[in-house]
Amino acid sequence: MPELPEVEVTRRTLLKFIENKVIKNIKINNPNLRFKIPANFKKNVTGQKIIKVLRRSKYILIYLKNDYVMIAHLGMSGKFLIKNNYSKDFLKTSYYSNEFSSKHNHLEFFFSNNLKVIYNDPRRFGFFLLDKISKLDVNKFLSKLGPEPLGKDLKKDYLILKTKATQRTIKTLLMDQRFISGIGNIYANEILFLAKIRPNKISSKLSLVDIGRLHLSIGKVLKRALKLGGSSIKDFKSSVGEKGRFQNEFKVYDREDLKCLRTRCSGLIARVVSQGRASFFCNECQN
Ligand SMILES: [Zn+2]
Repeated sequence: MPELPEVEVTRRTLLKFIENKVIKNIKINNPNLRFKIPANFKKNVTGQKIIKVLRRSKYILIYLKNDYVMIAHLGMSGKFLIKNNYSKDFLKTSYYSNEFSSKHNHLEFFFSNNLKVIYNDPRRFGFFLLDKISKLDVNKFLSKLGPEPLGKDLKKDYLILKTKATQRTIKTLLMDQRFISGIGNIYANEILFLAKIRPNKISSKLSLVDIGRLHLSIGKVLKRALKLGGSSIKDFKSSVGEKGRFQNEFKVYDREDLKCLRTRCSGLIARVVSQGRASFFCNECQN
């Protein structure tokens, strides 16, 4: 499932190709996603210029000239594929033509610069909705999100306050989008390893030293993942088919029974499943 780095990679790729371009036409092949594509979608989007492409948490926000915003979520397997409409070649061809069945092309956008952008989603947990810019503050998906973990929004004082107030485990808390936006299972595991905190530690028991390390680790792990183009496990690739490389640097995720990679630690990586999600951690150096 794409987490913040993968969604940000997707946003940046989209931005590069579609900013200031006009959507000449849209083809809705199959409106059935997690939510059905709204009936007014085609009418309000066709002919519009893309003003900007932003991201909030794992939502991609595509701003249109007419004050509407397309809110896209990739769900489990959603992806944008970008292709030159007037040649047979896909940009970075192997990506689209060999690996993704066109029967899962839900939406096709035809742009003024001869580009076609396809939204493909085999598992259909992603969605496309439409809202007015003026109503985004009260949008049900966006209004309750916690601070963004990249940049300066996420303050150490906020982490101190929130962790003190809950008896939930720190890993559960990290993955709660109302606490922090965009972190899922993979990055929660990696962040907690770097911070030397055991995933099942009760949040209110974290020391100030723990929280200091956690604060730094959140930024470090996500920035590094973003720099490497995200993590390509299963089928994530950017919209022009580039694989991410952060999976090559996983320290704990999917490393059960392997030796801990921390210098001078002789521990082994353990795997414990709770609530359907696997936690990976070192028994020796994460406390
Ligand atoms: Zn260790």
